[in-house]
Order: sequence, then structure tokens, then C-alpha cells
Amino acid sequence: MKIKTSKESAKFDGDTDDLAEFPSSFLSVENPITRITATEIPVTHPAEPDMFARHDGVPAHDQAALSGKRIVLVGGGGLNSWVAVGLARSGARRLTVIDPDRVDRTNLSRQFFFQEDLGELKGMRLAANLERQAVGGAAITGIGLPFEEALEDFSIDADILVVGVDNNSCRLAAAQEARRRRIPAVFSMLSRDGMRCQVFYQDPTTIEPCLWCALPNLDPDKIMPCASAIISSCFMAAAFTTFFVHRGLMGWGTIERFNWREADLTGMALNQTGMIKKREDCPVCSGG
Ligand SMILES: [Zn+2]
Repeated sequence: MKIKTSKESAKFDGDTDDLAEFPSSFLSVENPITRITATEIPVTHPAEPDMFARHDGVPAHDQAALSGKRIVLVGGGGLNSWVAVGLARSGARRLTVIDPDRVDRTNLSRQFFFQEDLGELKGMRLAANLERQAVGGAAITGIGLPFEEALEDFSIDADILVVGVDNNSCRLAAAQEARRRRIPAVFSMLSRDGMRCQVFYQDPTTIEPCLWCALPNLDPDKIMPCASAIISSCFMAAAFTTFFVHRGLMGWGTIERFNWREADLTGMALNQTGMIKKREDCPVCSGG
């Protein structure tokens, strides 16, 4: 395991000038991985219903499937904070959060962080903050490294990738990693004004489309770190993303399958739900 100094960690954020606003006391020498064990809230009376009893009857719900699967969240900011809360609350018991960014004050308006998290690595702090959310108990790992570096440094088991990041190169890396592992991946994205979300489910089977089939014009060099966002758009995207993660782990039952969800808070544009088709010339699907 590599121990990184604060100076080395600062490099991961790309432009070190962005960190100038943090007092140096926030940037401590640290280990980039943390492991948290949340304990299940015990029953107070033997006759109490099971904690997840209200999930019974929800179409295609399978609590055991959700509980046992290893969920890796790539990104722990505005999109994935709330997906992580949703998964932890609904009974996912094996969670890993990977995010190398540091919590800043603007994040507090819409991400699951608090005053004491300021200046700290999001992957590590979100894992810690999820402890109280995991009411059914969970093993939660937080990693404060970029996705590809985390894969190099640690053995990360995954049954599904949940990708909520602001840059296309990480989305591409995650799409390819999911293909290599033959596991599903869910991608969520917000429009620049924060009013519209797109969420895509990439099936593990190669006969189904990948993210690049769905969005062939994604520029791998494009980053949207300062796009607008408000908590309502984060919640909208997180709801659809959490639904896709549940379906990816539990199956669809009698629900008609789809892999694309697009919705607009303003109601000005048509909401879309459907099946994206595979592109024959897709470089990701052909292993490129
Ligand atoms: Zn493809």
C-alpha cells in the first residue's frame, strides 16, 4: 500500500492552484484508503418487522441480492453522494467509494459532506459519512485516489460500477473496466445548467451497448467541473441511478427493461425512457 504525503495527494487534483484556498492545516499526511464497519441497528422487540419489510412487494425487489453484491461508486460528489445514501439505506452491505477530490465549501450545498470534511478527500469522507446511513450494517471502503490509480494500487472487487463523475476520460475508463470484468455499470450525467439528467445502464453482456454506443460524441478530454448543479437535479439523477443499480443487481422481474433515462426538471424537454442500441463501429465494444 502506498502512503501518500499531502504534497503528492495535491497532484491528483490536477491544477494545484485550485487548492490554494485551503489553509495548509487541512492538508494532512494521510493514507488513501479507509475501511468502515457499520453495524446493523438491532431490533428492539422480537415482534418487530424486518427493517426492509416495506421493500416486499416492490416490483423485482430481491433484498438478498442487493445485500450480498459488491458495489463500487466511482465519484462521490453531487451525483454519487445521494446514490450512496440510497444504496446504504436500502440495504447494500458492501460499498466502495473512490474519489480523489477534496471537499470544498461549495460542495456542502448539495453533497453529503459536513463542516469537518472540508479539505479532506471525498472518497474517504463519504465512506465515513455513510456509516450512519447503513442502517442494515455494511462494510464500506473509501479510497481517495483517481479511479485508475485506485485499480492499480488496490484489489477492488466489484459486481457493479456506479459512475458519477464530471469527466469523460474517467467515464471511458470505467466503461472499459466494466466490459473487461463483464459486470454492469451505471453512468449519470447532468447538463451544464443542471436541469437535465441522463442516466445509462451498461449491461455486462457484450451484445448490449456500452456508454460509447449510447454517446458516441463524448469528448474524452472534456471536463465539466464547474457546471451548474443544485440538489434537486442531484436527487433526480440519483433516483434514476439507484433504480438502475437495483435492477442491475436484482434483475427486472416483470418490469420491461430499458437502459436509458433522460429527464428534465423544468418540464421544457421531453423525458425519455428506452433502449439504446449497440453501434457496430464502437471502439469500446470492439475492445479498443
Ligand atoms: Zn460500445
